[in-house]
Amino acid sequence: MIITRILSTLLLITYLVSDTSFNSAFAQRRKADPNKEYPKGYFMFPIQPGQQASLSGGFGDLRTNHFHAGIDIRTGGVEGYQVYAAAEGYVSKIRVMRGGYGNVIYITHPNGYTTVYGHLKHFNTRIEQYVRQKEYNQQVWDIELSPSPKDLPVSKGEIVAIGGNTGASGGPHLHFEIRDEAENAINPLKFGFGEIQDSQAPVIERVILKTLNAYSRVNGEFGRVSIAPTRTADGNYNIPTVIKAHGVIGLELNAYDRSQTSPFRLGVTEVEVKIDGNTSYKLNLEKMPFDISKDINVHIDYDIAESNGVRIQKCYIADGNRLSIYETDQNQGKIVIKDQEIHQVSVEVKDTYGNASIMNFSIQGDQPNEVFAEELAEESNFSGNISTSITENTLAIRTKNAKAPAAILQYKGIPMAVSLAYRRNTESVYLHDLNKGIADFIQVENSSERLNIKQEILPQKGQYYSESNLNIDFADALYDTLYLKTALNGNRLSINTEKIPLKDFITVSWTPSGVATSPKTSVYYVNDGRKYLGGTWLGNQIQFKTKELGDFQVITDTEAPNIRPVRIDSTELRFTISDGLSGIKNFNCYVNKRWVLMDYEYKSNRIWSIKLDESETFSGDLKLEVTDNVGNLAVYEVNIDEYIATQRAVRKATKKSSKKTSKSKKNVSKSRKSSSKHSSKKSKRKRR
Ligand SMILES: [Zn+2]
Repeated sequence: MIITRILSTLLLITYLVSDTSFNSAFAQRRKADPNKEYPKGYFMFPIQPGQQASLSGGFGDLRTNHFHAGIDIRTGGVEGYQVYAAAEGYVSKIRVMRGGYGNVIYITHPNGYTTVYGHLKHFNTRIEQYVRQKEYNQQVWDIELSPSPKDLPVSKGEIVAIGGNTGASGGPHLHFEIRDEAENAINPLKFGFGEIQDSQAPVIERVILKTLNAYSRVNGEFGRVSIAPTRTADGNYNIPTVIKAHGVIGLELNAYDRSQTSPFRLGVTEVEVKIDGNTSYKLNLEKMPFDISKDINVHIDYDIAESNGVRIQKCYIADGNRLSIYETDQNQGKIVIKDQEIHQVSVEVKDTYGNASIMNFSIQGDQPNEVFAEELAEESNFSGNISTSITENTLAIRTKNAKAPAAILQYKGIPMAVSLAYRRNTESVYLHDLNKGIADFIQVENSSERLNIKQEILPQKGQYYSESNLNIDFADALYDTLYLKTALNGNRLSINTEKIPLKDFITVSWTPSGVATSPKTSVYYVNDGRKYLGGTWLGNQIQFKTKELGDFQVITDTEAPNIRPVRIDSTELRFTISDGLSGIKNFNCYVNKRWVLMDYEYKSNRIWSIKLDESETFSGDLKLEVTDNVGNLAVYEVNIDEYIATQRAVRKATKKSSKKTSKSKKNVSKSRKSSSKHSSKKSKRKRR
């Protein structure tokens, strides 16, 4: 036992030494760009210029799979605001799409910058006509266009669009971006818009200290310690107790910015951590490359975000993070404590306007305690329960009252002893560094557990895993080493958990059992609800791609989409369309066999006609075809003129019968109005 202890101490020293040296090469390339001067006053504010504005989203806000690339300008909860071109230039890109930015235009300016306007209700007449013509030519609604500089020139202050709520937007607002020539998003507030004011300092809500390997401890334990700092009289923060720590520690932060004009929590754009007065980590979110914005998933604590939706940022650079928004010391911002001294930590967070909050606290070095055999002997009986978890490269085995000085791990029958790391109350914790070997079986005293780690998958390109009925091509999708766990059960498959992020697609070839191998049978991601992924059958094996780990299920969808007419007359055709399982893939509407453009709002399942020539009237045979993702087709056919006549007859009949009850009907419509008003107020607070 003493030998094991000496061994682990030696390994601890080796690890700490190597940890400080092998990372130094990376520190250089992490230097963020020096603060560049952006042209102030060149761009005009795109909504109600000259009036005080407020934001529901800030640049760099931590969003799902991306850093928010622009600002979200509030429009009082309503659509219909005029959107102005921020400067002269030309419309260089237009997109009409279901999710994302919805209806969006990009204007490229002579100084090389491009401004982006998203979630638009519609474009101005000239742009709208240009887009409709192309949509009619290609017979598609979802379109991406790249007009040439002479097609759609615009002048500064020209009304280019009307603000809306299209795409993945949770309430009316304008999403506004400024991009440079290299396709980096730049914080728009760096361009000096007087419309936005903020003199309030950010709030530091929570700090987490986390052990980053098997030899580290915070307050004597392996894992996370989460602390809400105390607000001091001067508006800053501290942590009154001294935190004890040893080894390699990660500092994580939940901080947000406020402003006097908005109830929304916006992101902070600068963070600086100092240890004993020396900067160890600095974040500057002034500029964001689009292609690797997804690396936000290793910038934040993904595990916490997936568990409870709170996005907490790491103040150190995690493995696989390619972002260049940091400056760090040789430890990549990780705090390394080897001594028994008290170290002063200060964390400063800032918003774009330089409003800052500082948090101070102390960490005292604290070598892990030895566990004595006599101490163990005194304990009561081991309950037999073993719980395991893997964080980074550490396997933690937690037991109640286990007395064994070591747990026995096995991989393919080869045993490995892991000595007891520490005891806390009645808990005995054994920690194993998976870099030294993986395990598929654990034994503590006379209890055992199957761990199911199948293979160690390294974060290099082209890693592949194979077992009967399952093959996984990891391509270049891993941020970090994956301790692969798989479970196959009939039409269900799990690959690790949703708490591990991927930076790209992996390809899975799977032979499920007990399912029909039909083209209508496909793979769904079933971790949080049900999401259609698709897949291609090759015999009884289905191949699919996924950007998320977790649980998958094969489901057969034989039901066609639903179509319900809302309005059919000579001026407009309007329907609701929906699909219960695989989801809507596309829709096509024809009047007398001529294709009619239908606009689509997926959030409310509505489609409605958009004419190329406004003076045109609808008459004759209508046919609407709606297809779901597995090819189930729904067709709605009617003669428009007959439909109008029937509707007129129905209205006449209901009018007659409802004459007596008209008084009570009035009351109903009144209460409906007030309830819709209430719900629009609610949606004001939502955002994307
Ligand atoms: Zn936005």
